[in-house]
Amino acid sequence: MLEVQVIASGSDGNCTVIQLDDEAIMIDAGLSYSKTHKLLEREGVDESAIKALLVTHEHADHVNGVGPIARKLGIPVYCNPATLGSFNPGSVDFNIIQTLQRFKVGNFDVLPLPTLHDAADPCAFTVSAGGKNILVATDTGRFTFPLRQALEDADFAIVEANYDNRMLHEGPYPEPLKRRIAGDHGHMCNADSAREIKNTALKPDRTIFLGHLSKHNNTPDIARDTVAEYTGIKRYKIDCLEFLGDTRTVTVSR
Ligand SMILES: [Zn+2]
Ligand SMILES: [Zn+2]
Repeated sequence: MLEVQVIASGSDGNCTVIQLDDEAIMIDAGLSYSKTHKLLEREGVDESAIKALLVTHEHADHVNGVGPIARKLGIPVYCNPATLGSFNPGSVDFNIIQTLQRFKVGNFDVLPLPTLHDAADPCAFTVSAGGKNILVATDTGRFTFPLRQALEDADFAIVEANYDNRMLHEGPYPEPLKRRIAGDHGHMCNADSAREIKNTALKPDRTIFLGHLSKHNNTPDIARDTVAEYTGIKRYKIDCLEFLGDTRTVTVSR
């Protein structure tokens, strides 16, 4: 069975687990070990199944828990050299990866994809396992060509829908921060996300999960409404985490 556990998604922390039978990998670890442990337990993930921790970029909401979690679980951290040079998780084992160079972890075939984001060398991951493709693509100002290809091939995709345009622009953030978020190296808005989803040929049973929703500039309802309206995908088929501390398990194949 191939499952994805969305443990956290957003500026308070990001963590996704992809599990094929009794083997799993974790993408990003933005929460503390104890919080992550609790949420994994709630979703029924056996920690000892997790074989590796992959890091997309060095922002705190993606790496805060990397050191403690890698040490507790006794697993190696996979990231590119620039990311490795930009945060300090303490003593952990590293495996250096390069964007657009495929690597294997157990039964998972992983391809890091370039994102556009204000970090040292940020990436997204597409993971192939059990004949399915899973894309985790957040923290990008817009989609790069390889991301589009991966979205087209994905059976399950977490796609960033960070903010609603109007909420951001009418909201409380200072102008420079608004510009950073809306810039090409910031985050994707609901409409950007909708456009990318619509423009990639739909696998009929592809599952879309919206990720990294801002708690100040977006709501789950607005994000789902925007994407459903624009893409024609039925609203109930578009999922996202509903509140801080919410988690989800999605079965990709049985
Ligand atoms: Zn982030
Ligand atoms: Zn970021």
